[in-house]
Amino acid sequence: MDCDKKSCASCTVDGKKKSREELVRCKLLRIKHKIVVMSGKGGVGKSSVASYLSLALARKGFQVGLMDVDLHGPSIPRMFGLKGVMDITDEREIIPHEYSPNLKIVSIESMMEDSDSAIIWRGPVKHGVIAQFIADCRWDDLDFLVIDSPPGTGDEPLSIVKLIPGVKAIIVTTPQEVALADVRKSINFCRKVNLDMLGLVENMSGLFCPHCNEFIPIFRTGGGLKTSDTMNIPFLGEIPFEPRVVEGGDRGAPILDDAAQSPFASAINDFAQAVLSGIERTEKLASNE
Ligand code: ADP
Ligand code: MG
Repeated sequence: MDCDKKSCASCTVDGKKKSREELVRCKLLRIKHKIVVMSGKGGVGKSSVASYLSLALARKGFQVGLMDVDLHGPSIPRMFGLKGVMDITDEREIIPHEYSPNLKIVSIESMMEDSDSAIIWRGPVKHGVIAQFIADCRWDDLDFLVIDSPPGTGDEPLSIVKLIPGVKAIIVTTPQEVALADVRKSINFCRKVNLDMLGLVENMSGLFCPHCNEFIPIFRTGGGLKTSDTMNIPFLGEIPFEPRVVEGGDRGAPILDDAAQSPFASAINDFAQAVLSGIERTEKLASNE
């Protein structure tokens, strides 16, 4: 399929306008790696992990796009302090917000009229909205597209798998057994739909005391590592609880821009490195097949 890089929306195949699915494929041709961040349950820090992974990759010099497809609670705009509607071109393409020269952000909130009203979406409608959203976004060439999807194994992750060939999953958990039980469901979902997993990351695994720096395992730790062992998927690391993340998320100012090397910042950096190694590993495996 040819791609007229300047104006996707009006480019045609054999003189005919592209179908929505063809348009999605065409848009995705410019993105090297697509990563979907998933979790078994809400509140484990999926949106935070997707945001900080994007920031860390952008700081390493990669061109990164961050996109949420959470129709029920898009939180990416709030975390980055993005307000108002996105810019739209004459061809009705959505221009992602340029958070920094290496990081562009877009939210499905831009497809919704009122971000505070609860909308009940049925599965096929959701799929249509997500497909339309991806088809409508105008990305420049990207190294990574990081996608924050809603918790669970419902319609949205399934739409992502169907719409985005080659997408790879990161699964986020917290150390408690209740979260880990849900994570096993997510892993089984990925296996069922043939979604490659980069691995599992444990978030909020303990707190470094801001006064004495002693480590306090609030919810215990090690559950993520054990689960990745028993479920036979790679472990991508542990991210500690950092009170400034909560504050930064509420204020719309993520904290990784801070120069201080906190245990949180170095854990995010190690996690991003583990993700890069995971991508290399899955690519090697694919080329040997
Ligand atoms: P999800 O997307 O899984 O629902 P969020 O990323 O919205 O979860 O996180 C839920 C809450 O937990 C938010 O208030 C967020 O700031 C906080 N949070 C997430 N990760 C951490 C962390 N490592 N340290 C401190 N707070 C965190
Ligand atoms: Mg979220």
